[in-house]
Amino acid sequence: MKKDQPEDLKALIERLAKKYAIDLDAGSEEIEESEPEKEEVAEEGTTTEDPEKDSEPPIPTDPKGTTVEEEKETMVARIAELSQAPGASGFEDDVIGILRRYCQDLGEIREDSLRNLYVYPKENRGNPVIMLDAHTDEVGFMVQRICPDGTLGFVPLGSWSPVCVPAHPVLVHTPKGYIPGIIASKPPHYMTEAERSALPKLTDLVIDVGAVSREDALTNFGVRIGEPVVPDTPFRYIENQDVLYGKAFDCRIGCAAQVAVLEALKGKSLAMDVVGVFSAQEEIGIRGARVTAKTVKPAVAVLFEGSPGDDTFGNPETAQTALKKGPMLRHIDAGMITNPRFQRFALGIGEELGLPVQQGVRTGGSTNGAGLHLSNQGLPVIVIGLPVRYIHTHCGFAAYQDFEHAVKLGIAIIERLTPEIIAGF
Ligand SMILES: [Zn+2]
Repeated sequence: MKKDQPEDLKALIERLAKKYAIDLDAGSEEIEESEPEKEEVAEEGTTTEDPEKDSEPPIPTDPKGTTVEEEKETMVARIAELSQAPGASGFEDDVIGILRRYCQDLGEIREDSLRNLYVYPKENRGNPVIMLDAHTDEVGFMVQRICPDGTLGFVPLGSWSPVCVPAHPVLVHTPKGYIPGIIASKPPHYMTEAERSALPKLTDLVIDVGAVSREDALTNFGVRIGEPVVPDTPFRYIENQDVLYGKAFDCRIGCAAQVAVLEALKGKSLAMDVVGVFSAQEEIGIRGARVTAKTVKPAVAVLFEGSPGDDTFGNPETAQTALKKGPMLRHIDAGMITNPRFQRFALGIGEELGLPVQQGVRTGGSTNGAGLHLSNQGLPVIVIGLPVRYIHTHCGFAAYQDFEHAVKLGIAIIERLTPEIIAGF
């Protein structure tokens, strides 16, 4: 039941959000009766009224009774909601609220003052713990000053290249909510020859919210210094190409993957306990993760990350984090040499299951693994990276199939880990 016409994007998101709401509150019977199903195109060139629709063979279902298609719609709706949520480092509240809702039936939920969120599944029995991790924050900015002309000076929260910052829409937090802004850039009409070829400096850039003076910005727009700013980017799912477009896939797609893994493990009896962690403030120096390992005291950790895609620049032959080639497991990055025994164990499971898995040997970048693997007298950690093109900019591409494969790999690793195997790491 593939769609052949691109669906109106707003309608898609509304349909997915609606579908998800139904999913939460009711059983799959209601999903089948819901309106969106009637919009499905049964076959190429046919409409929903096509009587052949009813005679199609039944769609395979997972053990929960939902069809593969329904499962995917739920997952895409979650990725959409998580991507759209504003959550610059230190201001992850909206993301935490969404994750609390997704995880409410999975076990006990706790939170610390950094706003690290912990999910302790009901199935835990006091065994050694596998800690899962995905970070909730995204790269953003903070308002530093309000200029006489009403524009806002800002500082980065997380790592931005100044080349990627100007001329983008943003959302600026105020006490009344987020308001639209533009990272101002001088029109070429007013630029000197030297300005045209100069690299922008973050300290020279300002955010324009449409105010005409400092007083206007303060009084009428409600802006304040110290408030977070995030990219204002719509989410799109390009269904025919199975491509996700949006902001903050680093690491909201990892958050969605972790939720899917925790859900899949629900009701299962495992050799290890599992604790799901959604950590804060990764982008400004893995701050949340400094606390989480002390709280959870895990025996191993499995991380889900949005990892920078490298297949559209440089040499495509040597790309190690390409879209649609599966999750990427890094042997090394700037912050960690991955425990080689855990890494080979995970790669072996990917091979055994026939899952596409990429391997990375990175000289730059790091993840929460950088802090976690040095905690608790040393902790075996692997990072399941979901390829995302153009992370740490306003917008990126990811592929749903990579999400799916990352989830499958994560579940299989967790199901196979035992205290005896971990002792060999
Ligand atoms: Zn990340």
